[in-house]
Amino acid sequence: MIGLHFFGKNQITDITSLLGEGGSKKKMFIIGLIVGGVSILLLVLVFSLWRCRWKKSHRGGKDIGVVYYNYRHLKMATNNFGEENMIGKGGFGEVFKAILDDNKVVAVKKLKVEYEGAKVGFENEILLISQIRHRNLLSLLGWSSEGSDLLLVLEYIQNGSLDKFLWGEKRGDLDWKTRYDIILGIARGIAHLHKEFHVKIIHRDIKSSNILLDNNFQPKIADFGLARLQPDDQSHITTMFAGTLGYTAPEYVLYGRLSDKVDTFSFGIVMLEIVSGRKCTYRNFDASSADGLLEYAWKLYETKNLLKLVDETMDVNHYKEEHVVNIIEIALLCTQSPASKRPTMSEVILMLPNNSSLVERQLTKPNCIDHDWRIQLECS
Ligand code: ATP
Ligand code: MG
Repeated sequence: MIGLHFFGKNQITDITSLLGEGGSKKKMFIIGLIVGGVSILLLVLVFSLWRCRWKKSHRGGKDIGVVYYNYRHLKMATNNFGEENMIGKGGFGEVFKAILDDNKVVAVKKLKVEYEGAKVGFENEILLISQIRHRNLLSLLGWSSEGSDLLLVLEYIQNGSLDKFLWGEKRGDLDWKTRYDIILGIARGIAHLHKEFHVKIIHRDIKSSNILLDNNFQPKIADFGLARLQPDDQSHITTMFAGTLGYTAPEYVLYGRLSDKVDTFSFGIVMLEIVSGRKCTYRNFDASSADGLLEYAWKLYETKNLLKLVDETMDVNHYKEEHVVNIIEIALLCTQSPASKRPTMSEVILMLPNNSSLVERQLTKPNCIDHDWRIQLECS
């Protein structure tokens, strides 16, 4: 048998001469380095691709530029949306306190979406709301949805809402300076919604329970995007009409005529509540047959008796009478009808610290509060 041998049997060939003296180790090292580097790079690439896919599948693919929370995690963090975690219940849904994995405390608002079609447009609205940042507006931190549930993850505000400090369990805790700062903060928050964003956002549901107070009693307006999340025929006004009756401008209730002055009206009502410590629907004013806070305030204005409106839990030494009267007059200015008589919120911000700016404007009592405004049309 003929065998082909390049090298003789047992012959050892030294190839170092081919690689060059001393360079072989170097070359091997470089080759090793390149192979190792490429392998690590490949591993990193594969890992990040896998992570990306994992995240997407956990978010249900709803990556719209605002944090999407895992529904099951939120359900667990709220103790299965349990009673003990519920902070409150409103016209749109329930609010729960939740502690997330990183121990961050948040509020979760659970909204029911009546039909699948109503979800159309949610993502755009949520993205819009999440971009609005102002110290007097409650921040949206993220969201989640499953079936007919839509969850909004919000900043948790420990002091809760303003109504509790005015006529609720914490009544009597607010002095005049704090009340005035709250009024100014609310005005700034609403003005920001109306002016500073590329689209005008009208809140439509300004009321004391939608004003939250942080640890420094700075107001934060809640629910400013909720009206936008409701289809027109399911708005809060029509479904929960009684709940917001006293706050809503007559032209909006009667004709659905929406403008920024709808918020000015509600803001005026909240101002009256802050000064008086009474809810807008309160009726038992001394010897007065007033049908509510607004009508009572107008009666006192006409009889030059506005100081009677002031909350008796406030220390009289802590406020100047002219300042309080001026604030009540601005509130009345805000609640005039027709809407064109009301100031914009930017104008209100200029008026608040300035006692003299009301001189140019004449206050006109809206006709509608003399009668049952639900059938009274001339006030619009
Ligand atoms: P509406 O549905 O018209 O807003 P509402 O404000 O009374 O009515 P919710 O918004 O559901 O109802 O809120 C219920 C209560 O939960 C509020 O009155 C407030 O006390 C509390 N709350 C809401 N959001 C928060 C939050 N982010 N932090 C702390 N408490 C909150
Ligand atoms: Mg609310």
